[in-house]
Amino acid sequence: SGRVEFRDVHFAYDPNRQILKGVSFEVPAGKTVAIVGPSGAGKSTISRLLFRFYDIQQGAILIDGQDIRDVSQQSLRGAIGMVPQDTVLFNDTIAYNIRYGRVNADEEDVRKAADLAQISSFIQRLPDGYKAMVGERGLKLSGGEKQRVAIARTILKAPPILMLDEATSALDTQTEQEIQSALDQVSKGRTTIVIAHRLSTVISADEIIVLADGGIAERGTHAELMGKG
Ligand code: ADP
Ligand code: ADP
Repeated sequence: SGRVEFRDVHFAYDPNRQILKGVSFEVPAGKTVAIVGPSGAGKSTISRLLFRFYDIQQGAILIDGQDIRDVSQQSLRGAIGMVPQDTVLFNDTIAYNIRYGRVNADEEDVRKAADLAQISSFIQRLPDGYKAMVGERGLKLSGGEKQRVAIARTILKAPPILMLDEATSALDTQTEQEIQSALDQVSKGRTTIVIAHRLSTVISADEIIVLADGGIAERGTHAELMGKG
């Protein structure tokens, strides 16, 4: 389960400016579709629409054939795991931040998720915001480490659908590779939508959709899109 379908989706934040002018694509259950395109093309809008933060003006968005207008926001949040560009952590231990993905998870599950995300060495520590209060227990996390906390949280939550928002864009090469392997762990067998700036980061996607001017300019596998030059 977890098939996602955008069917002729029209959307505007402001009636004078159409952002999506009839966008259709399908992500079969367990497959990965990447959405690429220039800044402002509407990539993040697609992720907000899937969570139903806004209602579309025309068309439909379906999960397993069900129109998301008939699904509660709570169920949507349960079904979709999001790894955002920029993760805001709670002022509590990293373990607590991971457990937020599934609050009834036991210690062992938290540990496993942390292992897969390669952050097990610091799960008992606290993010930077608490440093002044807790002295040496404070821990300043880099952007990449915060992202791995978000990945561990999502591994623990194990949602059928994953939304990855330009997850590795702002990182150095070494960190990007570590994050990529953690993301591969979490996306295995899940319906995944990756929002990316560059084609080079989504080589293994089953389909790449290039958004431009409110529509789909091109679509295909990485090899197909590269073949077109
Ligand atoms: P991308 O993720 O491809 O960079 P976005 O989906 O964030 O693009 O934005 C698409 C367009 O919609 C941009 O022109 C952006 O300025 C505009 N936009 C995004 N969010 C809002 C909003 N809440 N209200 C009005 N315009 C918005
Ligand atoms: P992200 O892609 O990480 O969501 P954005 O910069 O696109 O970051 O948006 C940050 C916030 O600002 C979002 O809540 C978005 O809806 C809002 N936003 C983005 N662009 C606009 C805009 N042109 N007008 C109003 N709100 C906007």
